[in-house]
Amino acid sequence: MLTLTFLGVGSAFAKRNHHANALFEAWHAGPAPDMPPDDLLLVDFGANAPLALHQLMRESGFAYLEHAGTINYPALKRIFITHLHGDHIGGLEELAASNTHGFGLRRGGEQGLPQIISSDLVLRDLWDKSLRGGLEVSSGGISTLADYFRPMVVEPSLDGRSPQFSLADRYDFGVLPMDHLRIRHRYDWPSYGLRVTDRGSGESVFYSGDARFEPDRTSDLLATPKLAFHDVQLVDEPDPVHALLSELRTLPDDMKRKVVLYHYGDTWDEPAFAFVRDEFAGFARPRHRYVLFE
Ligand SMILES: [Zn+2]
Repeated sequence: MLTLTFLGVGSAFAKRNHHANALFEAWHAGPAPDMPPDDLLLVDFGANAPLALHQLMRESGFAYLEHAGTINYPALKRIFITHLHGDHIGGLEELAASNTHGFGLRRGGEQGLPQIISSDLVLRDLWDKSLRGGLEVSSGGISTLADYFRPMVVEPSLDGRSPQFSLADRYDFGVLPMDHLRIRHRYDWPSYGLRVTDRGSGESVFYSGDARFEPDRTSDLLATPKLAFHDVQLVDEPDPVHALLSELRTLPDDMKRKVVLYHYGDTWDEPAFAFVRDEFAGFARPRHRYVLFE
């Protein structure tokens, strides 16, 4: 069984629903959602993700995320980073510092450091432009990314059909470049989505990461997956960096019905957006375990 649970579902500026970060959990023998998963992957860990995780660990079925009243960070053994915005990486300094100073995880130690997965460019900039400021100097001297994480480099591909890593020897994750921010051209500033395929059934699920609507591509990416989680922006604006709800509404009806919308602003429950539950698979629910594959 593979499930997805959002720590939060909000946009970068949302205050009601934390940031849109997700936890994939896999069990070899299922269904057994009350047992700790055999394998897991955290996708992004934004600025308020520690608070979101603190809330999640008190929910039924997530006790393994709690240790002595606080977050059991060593349980998060693998982390995939979609891109470098603060609502996706802003919690990593706390996670890394807690692992090393609170739990005593060490490079080459008995209890392994968490794996951190992304493209070479993202991992280099993650350290050089973000984490280094707070983590480089510690009482033990000068540290590098590899003192806190085990970096794993993936090779994104446009269709995401080339598996880059897997969970529980069954669920293959492909990594796709997505059109989020651009320097000059689309995909020239890295932001990634995921295509997850179940080796058993051949079915797939799509997770967009932060991505704008691409008229010539979005419907292709949403065509084959049985379920999709897509970034959405509720309010129109010129040259958006997220998929506008008004753009996603132009997709065929049968496609919309399998799309769960996430990364939304705080006004989602206004009457103007009531149509979403009828046209789409709804707004993503925080702390709800979505079953992706049985
Ligand atoms: Zn972003």
